[in-house]
Amino acid sequence: MKKLNFRYAGLNFDKFHKGNTHIHTTNSDGGWSPDEAIARYRDAGYGFIAVTDHNVVTRLEDRSTKDFCLIDSVEIDRSGPGWRTRHVVCIGVGKTFPDRTTFAKMHAAAVRDRAIMVVAHPHWSGNSVAEVLRGPYAGVELFNGVCYYLNHREDGVWLWDEALRTGHDLLGFAADDNHGRPPGVKPFDLGWIMVGAARLDRPSILKAIRAGQFYSSTGPRFHAIEFRDGKLSVRCTPSKHIWLNGPTWSVWRTNCPDGQLAEERTFDVAEILAKYKDLPFLRLEIEDAQGRRAWTNKLFV
Ligand SMILES: [Zn+2]
Ligand SMILES: [Zn+2]
Repeated sequence: MKKLNFRYAGLNFDKFHKGNTHIHTTNSDGGWSPDEAIARYRDAGYGFIAVTDHNVVTRLEDRSTKDFCLIDSVEIDRSGPGWRTRHVVCIGVGKTFPDRTTFAKMHAAAVRDRAIMVVAHPHWSGNSVAEVLRGPYAGVELFNGVCYYLNHREDGVWLWDEALRTGHDLLGFAADDNHGRPPGVKPFDLGWIMVGAARLDRPSILKAIRAGQFYSSTGPRFHAIEFRDGKLSVRCTPSKHIWLNGPTWSVWRTNCPDGQLAEERTFDVAEILAKYKDLPFLRLEIEDAQGRRAWTNKLFV
């Protein structure tokens, strides 16, 4: 980590926009109509959503309002041999996306459209780190709501950390992958991103996501993350653990005794970097008393 360029500099975390980047509707195998998805997410306090039906773009952008933004998106998939598959969420595709053609054609179109391409549920799919890093992928899902219900393979943090450890600035996403099921179980608001976009419109949101100026969460919030004079200070919702994670075993942390919670912590990053000159990344992670987590992206880029 040679140059300290703080990714979240100058951002007001209390003005971040809540969004979901992985949602299916009845246009593919989801349980909710597009109308229901819009209404339910808007009513739950979301600022934007990307509906990502399988291999077809559900066109909703025209229904964006000044306080709720819809970004035309898609999830494309290809099954490989040996019980492996690859699902890629493409956030922000163009008007001429070739729906329901081949994976190769749709993949090329997403690259052409400069969509933000995120490898979905890597544990559920059987993706390797090498496979993710070979592609034109901006990020990977750290948490996928429906994969938790399906077979408890919702987690992508291990793969993400390996990418970061080897010097790749892969972005980490939490998302619902809302399919409107299983019956009787809440299918949404399980995992989301909080984005530091200047405005609530497609270009501003996509720009902020591309820059990694967001964090992922399954519950907790960051109220502020500041970097000044070599010190990193964090304020957050009451947390059982606050971790400043580097690669593999490296960590600086607050672990609260049972019955106690922490809402702030300051880390001496200058001292850490003086001691560990070859540290490839640092990222913040918090966990609340219910085990719900939030993750920043790599803090210094
Ligand atoms: Zn999928
Ligand atoms: Zn999906």
